Amino acid sequence: MSKLFFVASDEEIKNGKTTDIYFERTEEILRKKAISKSVAAEVTCGGIPNSWPWGIFLGTEDVARLFEGIPVTVYSLREGTFFRAKDDQGIRTPVVLIEGDYASFCVYETPLLGFICQASGIATAAARVKKVAGEKTVLSFGARRMHPSITPMISRACYLAGFDGVSAVISADMLHIPATGTMPHALVIIMQDHAKAWKAFDEIVDKTVSRVALCDTYLDEKLETLMAATAVKDLSGVRLDTPGSRRGNFKEIIQEVRWELNLRGYSHIKIFVSGGLDEDSVQDLKPFVDGFGVGTYVSNGKTIDFSMDIVEMEDQYVAKRGKFSGKKQIYRCKECLRDVIVPWNSRPPECHGKMEPLLEPLVEKGTIVQKFPSASKTRDHVLEQVSHLDLF
Ligand SMILES: [Zn+2]
Repeated sequence: MSKLFFVASDEEIKNGKTTDIYFERTEEILRKKAISKSVAAEVTCGGIPNSWPWGIFLGTEDVARLFEGIPVTVYSLREGTFFRAKDDQGIRTPVVLIEGDYASFCVYETPLLGFICQASGIATAAARVKKVAGEKTVLSFGARRMHPSITPMISRACYLAGFDGVSAVISADMLHIPATGTMPHALVIIMQDHAKAWKAFDEIVDKTVSRVALCDTYLDEKLETLMAATAVKDLSGVRLDTPGSRRGNFKEIIQEVRWELNLRGYSHIKIFVSGGLDEDSVQDLKPFVDGFGVGTYVSNGKTIDFSMDIVEMEDQYVAKRGKFSGKKQIYRCKECLRDVIVPWNSRPPECHGKMEPLLEPLVEKGTIVQKFPSASKTRDHVLEQVSHLDLF
């Protein structure tokens, strides 16, 4: 089959073609030897990147569709649930549990992990940035740093993790939100004049789009900002994307621009910043800006190393060295958010408040049984959870 790009299609993923060859060989051996073993396999991780205390689990919907039509039963954390790598007894948090004939699903281990490891890693980095930014706007600008075939996944992970908007068109369409962005330096260069570019934007672009002028292409940020403020009647903001070589002290540049705008009666003009931002710079600049465009730091969010292990076979406890055998459920106290992991079908442990089981039925014998809330509802849920969590 000829392909335009080096990517797997939905169909190839669904048919297990992205799997590692050893799973295909295992399936072949089991089928030819007529070995059918009912197993329970759980997905866990040993830690969250950067020793962060929690992560945001993402990929539930993709996992559901991956296993739809496969004769297995799957339990999973809900999309956007925060998780810790282990509970306070050192037991790894099960984020997904699969039951079925091993040969029927072994080839799906590779795509299953791929779906959740990367999306959860991006969502975790994004949730942290949004927590630092607080009420300030944060937009996902990271599409260009990653493979275009996963642009929707990246933007969705950022949005569900609490970002306020996304710049990529396809992602905005999928999320049913308007795409957000300003103008590239290229427009200013092509138009040969800052004011001409800003005015053309104001003249041509739909009136519902905020008039935000990019103010750092050729001249000083302060000078270009004041030029834009007088050139565009309804200017709502400026974006400063000062290159690293010219930054000196980016915070002081922003403070100066803010002062000069306010002094001339432009206190309503907002300041947006972009370019190489991360948790630390968002924290540092937050008091002086109205919004951030964050790209590589989140789209390149470290993948979370989830792995899958068989923990029961024919209802007997089994596990490889280093893994705890037996199916497990994770309970979370609604009051203090403590997690307690117990053997499956144990009585709920006790804590301050109601203990909720977090592994919920996702797929039953190949049928998706979970209803997925809208992206904005999941986003609200993530923001609510993260509001109770510390960054370190
Ligand atoms: Zn409690």
